[in-house]
Amino acid sequence: GSTIGILGGGQLGRMLALAAARLGLKVVVFDPDPNAPAAQVCAGHECAGYDDIAALERFAGVVDVVTYEFENIPTDALDAVEAHVPIRPDRRALATSQDRLSEKTFLEGIGLRVAPFAPVETAAELAGAVARIGTPSILKTRRFGYDGKGQVRLRSPGDAAAAWAELNEEPCVLEGFVRFEREISVIGARGVSGQIACFDPGENVHRDGILHTTTVPASIPHGLATDAVLLAGRILNALDYVGVIGVELFVTAEGLLVNEFAPRVHNSGHWTQDACAIDQFEQHVRAVAGWPLGDGQRHSDAVMTNLIGADAHDWLEAGRAGGLHLYGKAEARPGRKMGHVNRISPRR
Ligand code: ATP
Ligand code: MG
Ligand code: MG
Repeated sequence: GSTIGILGGGQLGRMLALAAARLGLKVVVFDPDPNAPAAQVCAGHECAGYDDIAALERFAGVVDVVTYEFENIPTDALDAVEAHVPIRPDRRALATSQDRLSEKTFLEGIGLRVAPFAPVETAAELAGAVARIGTPSILKTRRFGYDGKGQVRLRSPGDAAAAWAELNEEPCVLEGFVRFEREISVIGARGVSGQIACFDPGENVHRDGILHTTTVPASIPHGLATDAVLLAGRILNALDYVGVIGVELFVTAEGLLVNEFAPRVHNSGHWTQDACAIDQFEQHVRAVAGWPLGDGQRHSDAVMTNLIGADAHDWLEAGRAGGLHLYGKAEARPGRKMGHVNRISPRR
């Protein structure tokens, strides 16, 4: 296909559109916000809500393939699009990762390790889950969580009632607290033909639940980096996946545990823009367009720093060294991702 549709016009959609434009491909974005970051750089913008079936059909009618930059797309919207064009990555990848319970069940089912977990739908189930998993632990809503929102830590069993109330008694999973040494992620890609290419694992540091920096290479032994990449490959193959995936991992004394995966380009893969010949956005565009994947080799070491809220303004000077990426958001609200900076240095 030569025209790509993107559901969601945030910064991820914007950077996908910029990568597609460089490859001579047209992008039409679907987003209810007339000032969506991606809308500024796309050939077309269907500006409507995700419940507007006529608009979704119009959108699907002018593109050859549809991808997305966020996971919480309503089922009816997906049905309307899929009646006309393929969605990549497909519905199964989306459904599996949208719900933390199906995600963890899937990961265990393909032989990967996750934190101990238990489903929680009632106060009684929570009590049983706390008895089995113990504390410290984390109660997370099954759906709609991001940037650490929709989760509460339990320091002792006495915290359970308040946590359940705070999450509005929504369906949850209780997760055992993992005493990880560090957090890493693998950005992987799989093409239509089943070809796989993964970027080197990055090491992630969060602040207030939001990704702060990604550093590449991660300070882990070579063998563990290989394990991480192979593990991402197993997820990609098991889902018969097409596109880029972000797999978040905990490094523990006993090896790797999978935290979660995102069926899209990922914030912890932004370093690839300045440290690789082909970045995660181009790789995703290549995959969904049915092109051969590019070479994901890294030519530099890199540190990616997110510019959050008003902090973004401090970076105009530092950005003169290169690697400054701003998303074109007018208003710098606290906690809002405004841009990022990639500092690269020669590969050691
Ligand atoms: P994202 O913005 O990456 O989608 P999210 O809101 O889906 O984040 P998680 O990735 O589940 O949330 O958790 C956010 C962070 O909280 C993790 O990166 C990790 O630092 C910490 N965390 C989550 N689960 C656990 C756990 N079981 N044990 C220890 N720390 C955890
Ligand atoms: Mg998440
Ligand atoms: Mg996460």
